[in-house]
Amino acid sequence: MHPGYSTDIVIFGGGVAGLWLLNRLTGAGYRAILLENHRLGGGQSIHSQGIIHGGLKYALHGAISGASRATADMPRRWRECIKGRGEVDLSACELLSPGFLLWSGEGMGAGVKAFLGSKAVAGKAEAAAPGEVPPFLRGRGAVYRLPDFVVDPESLIKALAAPHTGRIHQIESSDARDGAEAVRFERATAKRRLHLAKGEGFVSLSAQRYIFCAGAGNERLIEQAGLSLPRCQRRPLKMLAVSGAPLPQVFLHMLGPGLSATPRLTITSHRNAQKPDAPVWYLGGQLAEEGTGRADAAQIAAARRMLAELMPELRMSKLEWRCFAIDRAEPASPGGRRPDNAVIVAEEDVITAWPTKLTLAPVLADLVLRKLREDGIEPAATAQSPAMADPALAKLRRPPAVARPFWS
Ligand SMILES: Cc1cc2nc3c(=O)[nH]c(=O)nc-3n(C[C@H](O)[C@H](O)[C@H](O)COP(=O)(O)OP(=O)(O)OC[C@H]3O[C@@H](n4cnc5c(N)ncnc54)[C@H](O)[C@@H]3O)c2cc1C
Repeated sequence: MHPGYSTDIVIFGGGVAGLWLLNRLTGAGYRAILLENHRLGGGQSIHSQGIIHGGLKYALHGAISGASRATADMPRRWRECIKGRGEVDLSACELLSPGFLLWSGEGMGAGVKAFLGSKAVAGKAEAAAPGEVPPFLRGRGAVYRLPDFVVDPESLIKALAAPHTGRIHQIESSDARDGAEAVRFERATAKRRLHLAKGEGFVSLSAQRYIFCAGAGNERLIEQAGLSLPRCQRRPLKMLAVSGAPLPQVFLHMLGPGLSATPRLTITSHRNAQKPDAPVWYLGGQLAEEGTGRADAAQIAAARRMLAELMPELRMSKLEWRCFAIDRAEPASPGGRRPDNAVIVAEEDVITAWPTKLTLAPVLADLVLRKLREDGIEPAATAQSPAMADPALAKLRRPPAVARPFWS
């Protein structure tokens, strides 16, 4: 076995959380590497709708909630990054839409109307100008403009990973090894040593902190590290993708007749690599939450009925449909509720981290950096170069490929 490599931080998981954190840590002078066991972004991040929320979505039940407060400053922070002058460089990340619409639907309830006109919402939702309203919504209920905007998740992951190819390493997955563990933590004292399977042998590393940003993979890592905490929850979704030439570019939440924290339907429009002229509408919201118990055909039928009711002029016969089941992976919350903010849980030399929303990746990195400083883990005084040349790390395959959305 190789004598091993030692660093400040080892991050597990190359979704938005791990990659954003890698950028912030190296920017602050820490020596850090990231380990990914499938494809970068291949968990929730690539399948997110890419909406950078500005708070109002989480107030739709009629009050400014914790989640609403947590997300309020996020559009500003992300926009700075996209302009290339923020905490991470997202100048190569594609903006799919600079804005987002909220459509009341027809027959908006009095409660919804009062809430959207209330002081609590001032500055968060403005009536959309006539030119911003898609033709099929004109004259059909109220349309508001939110401070939210939409990024392309694939280009986001590429932009976050590009400066760090020498620090991002492909590791083997336990699932691909017939159940044999691909990751082993050895603990002689409070400090762990990490052994990563590589073919017949292992590559050994040690770090001051191991940070689990592996989404649904955190559960297994917590077990492998022998931790007692934290407990995890999953909230399933059955998302839909529909494509076809007649679809216009649409980015909107559609409210139900009453106030609810989840819009009845959320539509984002994405590129389809195979058919550049035919955008994909990616459908989430209550439709995806309620569809988790349905077979694919039943979920597609439910979505067709909803679109036919909402947009009767849409030519359904030309559309191609796909379903995709995916879990939101989070720390356990009372009653299985959606956590309001990013969460980290520290035990010994491990920090387990969940952004809980793509939007909150910057907050997650703030929390980790603060915790490292509290624990007296300071960055080296001089800038660190990528660790690629280290003979122990050179044994790992690298860098992993970036995942594609399911409709590609
Ligand atoms: C359908 C859907 C739509 C969403 N839409 C939005 C949205 O519009 N806006 C928003 O703000 N949020 C949205 N979210 C939430 C958001 O996508 C997630 O909160 C966020 O992407 C989580 O990022 P992550 O990096 O923690 O996890 P993930 O993106 O799941 O990444 C985890 C990574 O860890 C890797 N991994 C797993 N196990 C291991 C291991 N043992 N070793 C190494 N690597 C490992 C995985 O392969 C993966 O690459 C959405 C979520 C879903 C499911």
